[in-house]
Amino acid sequence: MAATTEELLAYDRGHLWHPYTSMTDPTPVRLVTGASGVRLTLADGSELVDGMSSWWAAIHGYNHPVLNEALARQAGDFAHVMFGGLTHAPAVRLAERLVELAPAGLEKVFLADSGSVSVEVALKMAIQHQRGLGRPERTRMLTIEGGYHGDTFGCMSVCDPVGGMHSMFAAVLPQHVFAPRPPATADGVPGWAEAFEALADEYAGEVAGIIVEPLLQGAGGMHPYPAECLRVMRAVADRHGLVLVFDEIATGFGRTGTMWAADAAGVSPDIMCVGKALTGGYLTLAAVLTTAAVGAGISASESGVLMHGPTYMGNPLACAVALANLDLLTSGDWAGNLARINRGLEHGLAGARDNPAVVDVRTLGAVGVVQLDHPVDVVKAADAAAELGVWLRPFRDLIYTMPPYITDDDDLALICAAVTRAAEVA
Ligand SMILES: *Cc1c(COP(=O)(O)O)cnc(C)c1O
Repeated sequence: MAATTEELLAYDRGHLWHPYTSMTDPTPVRLVTGASGVRLTLADGSELVDGMSSWWAAIHGYNHPVLNEALARQAGDFAHVMFGGLTHAPAVRLAERLVELAPAGLEKVFLADSGSVSVEVALKMAIQHQRGLGRPERTRMLTIEGGYHGDTFGCMSVCDPVGGMHSMFAAVLPQHVFAPRPPATADGVPGWAEAFEALADEYAGEVAGIIVEPLLQGAGGMHPYPAECLRVMRAVADRHGLVLVFDEIATGFGRTGTMWAADAAGVSPDIMCVGKALTGGYLTLAAVLTTAAVGAGISASESGVLMHGPTYMGNPLACAVALANLDLLTSGDWAGNLARINRGLEHGLAGARDNPAVVDVRTLGAVGVVQLDHPVDVVKAADAAAELGVWLRPFRDLIYTMPPYITDDDDLALICAAVTRAAEVA
């Protein structure tokens, strides 16, 4: 069995797929041996301040005593039972908590095992709801260009048709309706709204719902857009009887500065997906919340039930740690803390504007983005950040950070320095 750092890395290189990475010519990986607070420890003993929150999930940092305790306590009771015909306190309490926190009207909860699965479930819900209303011909989704909703087939079909994976899988993906990406600033909203409304008018008869990442498109390009666009979507959905789905997997739990991105617009969707930060980065878990009306529509469809039920649905360990994570989040002044992080990002990234290769610097809540005029050399950028003691993983033309919420001002300044430095070398 691989034991030394060299053996582990060699076997990894020969046998393990990493995300979006070649099997025959993989980019190098770093071996993590520990993680605590905002710091990752590597096999050579060095430490990196984590600017990524492990893909936006570890909002309270690593090895958190409260989360560890919740997990250990539940493991001592029982780790898992099937959710068909059985239930348990962690799932019930988590549902209660999510309903309390969610925008008004979202009160029916489906616990899924990953963000992508929750999006698949949301798409099924929209279609089954329309069937329940006697509109089985409504099977397509209306969405916006530049989106990202996950990697499974249903999810891929609503990701950006150019930047996503459509071309490779075109023959097997359902064809949805794509509106232009919403504008970055308010002056573009009227023109965008007109185009969005026109598409809805044209296709409403075949469309079951609208699905978008509210306020901030994440993996599709870190693109924030005005809250007003969400109000336009709500109005369009109401006018045409469409199910409005907000994918808050990246934006939820305070990341954009409000508890939900939807809150910035004062809009409640009909379906909301949450994931990523739900368990504070401990275990994979997601949830789909919907209204009583959609719940009733689905139940009125010919099957009478929602056609989904994963093996690990409602996993008690994940629910217990999620509950502790949400208690941690809401027990403190999370909004004040998010505002503090935003100020730190604004201040720390301002200098990147002096770099002639930088076309845009933008922040929203605890998201800081530096956009270059060329695709990033990911390895060079990550190495430059690591030299300053920071872990970053850029993509496309973007060097960005989504730091843990517990990042203090000094570490935040270090992360910003690393983003700025990476933008110079990449
Ligand atoms: C990450 C992400 C997903 C997919 O979640 P997984 O847990 O990786 O399957 C879906 N939607 C959005 C907006 C995401 O950021």
